[in-house]
Amino acid sequence: MRCFYCIPKGFKDFQQPDDWLTFDEITRVVRVFAEMGVSRFRLTGGEPLARPGLTDLVSLLSAQPGVEDLSLSTNASLLEAHAADLKQAGINRINVSLDSLNPERFREITGCELAPVLAGLQAAKREKLGLVKINTIAMKGLNDDEFGDIVDYCNDNGFTLRFIETMPMGATGQQAGRHYLPLTEVKDWLAERYELLPAMMPGGGPAHYVQLNGTDLRIGFITPISQHFCETCNRVRLSVDGTLYLCLGQSDRYALRPLLRSGISDDGLKNAIHEALALKPLKHDFVSQPKKQVRIMSLTGG
Ligand code: SAM
Repeated sequence: MRCFYCIPKGFKDFQQPDDWLTFDEITRVVRVFAEMGVSRFRLTGGEPLARPGLTDLVSLLSAQPGVEDLSLSTNASLLEAHAADLKQAGINRINVSLDSLNPERFREITGCELAPVLAGLQAAKREKLGLVKINTIAMKGLNDDEFGDIVDYCNDNGFTLRFIETMPMGATGQQAGRHYLPLTEVKDWLAERYELLPAMMPGGGPAHYVQLNGTDLRIGFITPISQHFCETCNRVRLSVDGTLYLCLGQSDRYALRPLLRSGISDDGLKNAIHEALALKPLKHDFVSQPKKQVRIMSLTGG
């Protein structure tokens, strides 16, 4: 997909397969992180289902001791064919991006068709692919007339809904800033229509949740701009070429691939990861320096 706020039009500058970490290399990094005490892992991208043989990688990762939670972020366009295998291989919950339920608008935002995504979501439901969270970027003038429909869709299907604020990542994210909608406004909109109760969700992520009274529907708010959560951010992201990124909004990074390909020991790798973690910055500068981050989101995943 080519979501306009994420990938530049005509973007072709993808990493070449020779530079991709192999499944064995990814598994080794995950095993070492797990030995260091990390228990939650998520496959994202780019689009993870575009990687041939992804299910094999899931089987390798879910078998590692200490991996307690293995989730997948996907646009769901290829999910229908893979849902059963992913479940069997050990994915225990998924996040699916869905900004519109209107096929024409969906095409405008992503350049792709909505129907396969909805079919993928139904397959996830049928195969009981764990908790399904729908990620919706709230965009003024673009999908802010659809929140009621998206709430109903999630409620009818037993999905959890999370609203996200646009982030100025790369030129695309910065241009999308014209649609920025602080989620306080979305919460106020919801509060006028539903009784909102405080709620909790498993997953350890940054969202604050409410539950709609009288329903099982939980709605999360991810507010990197209006109320950042940098002080509790516990994420690092490993890109397909083996670079460990310490923050979505900063350039701090550490190249693991050269170490993996030069025969480093597990202890050496652990030391390198400790060095990398020490580089994690205090916070992003999305608000004070909105043009600073030139990296697009799809390079590291959300
Ligand atoms: N392909 C997968 C998917 O669609 O979920 C995983 C990768 S996608 C880059 C991960 C998430 O990043 C999606 O929910 C997407 O909406 C979000 N995202 C991309 N660019 C963004 C931006 N500029 N601001 C906020 N969220 C963004």
